[in-house]
Amino acid sequence: MTRLANREGRALLLAPDGRSGADLERASGGRFGHDPMQAIARLSEISAWCASESPQLDAIVAAGTLGPCVPDPRQVFAIGLNYRDHAAEAGLDIPKVPMVFTKFPSCLAGPESGIPISSETVDWEAELVVVIERETRDVAPEDALACVAGVCIGQDVSDRRLQFNAKPPQFSLGKSCRGFGPIGPAVVTLDEAGNPDDLAILCDVDGQRMQESRTSDMIFSVPDLVSFLSRHCTLLPGDLIFTGTPAGVGSVREPRRFLKAGETLITAIEGLGELRNPCVSAE
Ligand code: ZN
Repeated sequence: MTRLANREGRALLLAPDGRSGADLERASGGRFGHDPMQAIARLSEISAWCASESPQLDAIVAAGTLGPCVPDPRQVFAIGLNYRDHAAEAGLDIPKVPMVFTKFPSCLAGPESGIPISSETVDWEAELVVVIERETRDVAPEDALACVAGVCIGQDVSDRRLQFNAKPPQFSLGKSCRGFGPIGPAVVTLDEAGNPDDLAILCDVDGQRMQESRTSDMIFSVPDLVSFLSRHCTLLPGDLIFTGTPAGVGSVREPRRFLKAGETLITAIEGLGELRNPCVSAE
């Protein structure tokens, strides 16, 4: 039962309300180190320790001090068209196999980081993000959740022009611009988050509800995605899987709607908290 965040490069045990916590290394008397990536690789052990020791999570966490809860993954997988209603709004067929691309890890950002609006076609995609705990190859779907450290919220921010300008389209660059990967606020273990395949997910832009769905509408479930990817790639501790977005993105709305500097993007998933990212002018 643990929420693991990253405050200024140190692993932080976050309270469910997201406003207070405890430094992992200090709270555990040095049993666990301060490195967030090493903590993710030991999250089952940390969670068991939390359950037996109940550390006090009473140190105030100041707004804006959390970084990406997984700051330095080696691989960031992302899945396109994984909700039926989003495939339909995009005018595309339901995929028969997962459509996989990457977000380059340098785009990852904190739960309250500014999103640089680098063009007139920057769009939102609320997503559930899966965090891998241990090295995983060829895992069956029924065993896949045992390889997962937990889940967090993610925004697959996308520059649609950059995404679709190349022929054939190449998704990775347009989804990896600086600041285009806010995640957090914490990696939540599955015993606390509940079934990752049945969580409410929503996205608001400046107070207007743009996306509202449940992860139960995903075409490929979390165990299916972990299993599929592990048949082709070796999954490593701290790797991320952005699992796709439901209907309601800006590029297919009538009229089209994109993010503007000065707006606030809120992304929330049931039980995981929320991301609150201001859109800022690109330097
Ligand atoms: Zn996406």
